[in-house]
Amino acid sequence: MSKIIIEARVNEIATRKGNPHVPFLPREVIADAKACYDEGAAIVHFHGRTEDGAPNHDPAYYLEANAGIRAQSDILIHPTLGYVANDTDAKGRFAAIEEMMKSADTAPDFAPMDTGSVNVDWWNPEAGAYDTTELIYKNSTGTLMYFADRIRHYGLTPYLVSWNVSFTRQIEQFLKMGVLSQPAYICFCMTDEIIFAGHPGTAKGLDAHTGFLPEGFETVWTVVNYKGDLFELTEKIIREGGHISIGLGDYAYADGARNLTNAEVIAKVVAQARSLGREPATVAETRKILNMQDRKIAA
Ligand code: ZN
Repeated sequence: MSKIIIEARVNEIATRKGNPHVPFLPREVIADAKACYDEGAAIVHFHGRTEDGAPNHDPAYYLEANAGIRAQSDILIHPTLGYVANDTDAKGRFAAIEEMMKSADTAPDFAPMDTGSVNVDWWNPEAGAYDTTELIYKNSTGTLMYFADRIRHYGLTPYLVSWNVSFTRQIEQFLKMGVLSQPAYICFCMTDEIIFAGHPGTAKGLDAHTGFLPEGFETVWTVVNYKGDLFELTEKIIREGGHISIGLGDYAYADGARNLTNAEVIAKVVAQARSLGREPATVAETRKILNMQDRKIAA
């Protein structure tokens, strides 16, 4: 069986209410990146956060975090563009990456492109109502083409997030246009419990994603469950040749009453993959699977 790419999604905008091990500050993210790498993760994804956990999209955060991660391992770095916390124009959304690209010590390996737009309001299960009603994650076609152009310019790999089938269909059009090259690395984003913008994190939800992979194009797919327990699907994903992106940023993983760390979540996925005959891909193997190019540092 093919190697499996494991990505650690360490913090997103998760609070410490459900699990106190969520890293916020650069030094905490750096420590988690190394611990997850040691357990078999090949990619780390994180969001800039303040000491209190608020979103912090200051480029200085990423320069510090990326340099610290690079100093400890060769794990591939996948930052965020800031999600709805950085709701500005295309250039503004990509500005932090432009800063990161000024040095090989701080340059990431991936830049994300969520290939569509969606309502991402937070559901409050206790109240039976939405806590927010105006949160739209906007990614216009023009904005996405700008991101793709900058990503290509720097030799980065686009991390294509598909929240539903319409996002995957836009990826297909971009492949036809040559806006994206092959293989397309597609992250199927399932959502549960407090956000319903993605497919349900069930076998049916995943089948509905994989059933619409662009035909005639080379694709590699990974799966996230944002705010749901991805372990309900990991065996299916491993058996079907998919890859796994998981961590405390998505869900407050626990073992009974004990909160797991990000590294323990990665160790659990790796053990399951191995038991089903798939070894975790090293960084070099991941680069090969995704045909990653050499990054071009800004002059
Ligand atoms: Zn993220």
